[in-house]
Amino acid sequence: MELTIEQPCPTCGAVVSLSEDDRLIRCEFCDVENYKIQHSISRYSLPAKIPPHISNSDIFYVPYLRFKGCIYYCQGEHLRHKLIDTTRIGANIDQFPVSLGLRPQAMRLLPVTRQLPGQYIRQNVKAQKIFAEAARLTSLFNTDRTNTITHRAFIGETISRIYFPVYTHNGSLFDGVNNYEIGSSAAAKQLISNVIAFSSEWEPRFLSTICPKCGDSMNGSAGTLVMNCENCETQWYEDGGRFKAVEYRVMPALYEKAKYIPFWCLEPEVDGCRLESLADFLKLTNQPVVAQEYHYRKKLSFIVPAFKVNPTIYLNTAKNLTILQSAFENTITQRLTNIYPVTLEHKEAVQSLKSVLAASALSYRLVRGVMESMTFNVETTKLIYLPFRNAGHDLIEHHTGMSIPAAALRFGRSL
Ligand SMILES: [Zn+2]
Ligand SMILES: [Zn+2]
Repeated sequence: MELTIEQPCPTCGAVVSLSEDDRLIRCEFCDVENYKIQHSISRYSLPAKIPPHISNSDIFYVPYLRFKGCIYYCQGEHLRHKLIDTTRIGANIDQFPVSLGLRPQAMRLLPVTRQLPGQYIRQNVKAQKIFAEAARLTSLFNTDRTNTITHRAFIGETISRIYFPVYTHNGSLFDGVNNYEIGSSAAAKQLISNVIAFSSEWEPRFLSTICPKCGDSMNGSAGTLVMNCENCETQWYEDGGRFKAVEYRVMPALYEKAKYIPFWCLEPEVDGCRLESLADFLKLTNQPVVAQEYHYRKKLSFIVPAFKVNPTIYLNTAKNLTILQSAFENTITQRLTNIYPVTLEHKEAVQSLKSVLAASALSYRLVRGVMESMTFNVETTKLIYLPFRNAGHDLIEHHTGMSIPAAALRFGRSL
């Protein structure tokens, strides 16, 4: 489930409700759009209701790490996947619940800013440990006890830190959200010894949505990672607090009212395995297609969804489009309207390549031998927009007839 954040508009201060993955903040009050810069970890607090007689020095924020994402792993003959959505306490403190349970989803969270009164508790459990925990959970749910896991990748994950506000009063410790007593003075002392100074780097930061090239305003939907400038036909993604140009190409529509859906076009340098041409890919994965001269000349690109969608559809779509890539030779540059947002980062798409390869193979046994030693290196950031027509339940790609269930795209927004 997604978290809802009460984010003050960076321009006028009015409160705007956001989903945790929203990047574009559109304020109804001042009509200004701001673009939220990606943090390695976003920080939020559960909304505190601290009684007025409690002084700021008695308020503490206890860190929990939230992991939401999909784990792909290969085991025995199979490629499996599992969606994980979990919170785990990030500090070794007695008497605190291990998880926040459903609380973060039931409340409107606040971004951590200098205005929040109180002190922060140091996170001393490593994020890696939470990952390991999430991975361990996948094996708990798994009925296959005989085969070991040979490949594992986390794709499209969001990691955030959610602070649980507490306060001390008369030697006891209280839950700052609903004011129940949760611990003794010993727990309170433990907290005080673990305080860390607030850093301004924790606060959300924003960019103006003016096109860096032409100065016109760019557009995009709330969750988009890539902003579009219709005026000068450029696209931009935020990296290190700045907008950088992203190369994009478009397959022309064959019918009216096309919806343009984005895919990452990844041209990897592969080490540890011969995988240079499309023919190499067809042979390695044992596709029921005879490799033609054309396939030998064609440098391999993986064409994978640039949006979050359920893992089965992600892998199927990536496999089909990669095999059918010769249908997308004649791309053009054109002004884009009616586009579906990019919601999966380029680096996540690169991380998914081994899983895509495993899913493309007629049998996993064919690729298992090379999976461990191979590495993919992708230098270019290239998008290709393919035209789809709406056929009710499905969206159908004009040139290949490949379909994606419309519901999968809607659902994917909350993945
Ligand atoms: Zn505003
Ligand atoms: Zn522009």
